[in-house]
Amino acid sequence: MLEFQTTQPEETITIAKKLGRQLQAGDVLLLDGDLGAGKTTFTKGLAEGLDIKRYIKSPTFTLIREYPDGRIPLYHMDVYRLEETGASDLGLEEYFDGDGVSVIEWSQFIADELPSDYLTIHFNKNDDDDQMRTLVFEPHGARYTALVEASFDN
Ligand code: ADP
Ligand code: MG
Repeated sequence: MLEFQTTQPEETITIAKKLGRQLQAGDVLLLDGDLGAGKTTFTKGLAEGLDIKRYIKSPTFTLIREYPDGRIPLYHMDVYRLEETGASDLGLEEYFDGDGVSVIEWSQFIADELPSDYLTIHFNKNDDDDQMRTLVFEPHGARYTALVEASFDN
């Protein structure tokens, strides 16, 4: 597992941008961490790496925001509100198997709907420094091991 410490939001964005440049259609990223840990900030960097010019806004109230105007489409999901109901009727597989990249905040609430392979990125805050974050990359499956290598091996 690969781990980074960042000390300001711009650093988190820079790391995400490197990953964003390597993303391919059908990739699924799970962003795991508390409120305010930096999941949406990270997604802004992914969008930069995908050459998306639109402003990335949290999909907390819309569940999914779609950004079709980059190198490949970005589907940004925040499924926090599905904690009670689950996601079985939403047709999420169409996003996961589709022509773009799916990025999911609070994926534990749709655990039954997820594909077998994905990249989990864990975000942890630090008690001593409110700008410090630890990012841990945990690939599940060969595609995501290769993706992490291609993004950060230099
Ligand atoms: P989440 O989507 O996980 O709830 P957000 O990305 O919306 O989190 O919010 C993270 C907040 O923390 C933002 O206000 C961001 O500016 C701030 N922040 C401070 N330091 C960092 C850092 N090192 N990395 C990411 N965000 C940071
Ligand atoms: Mg968020």
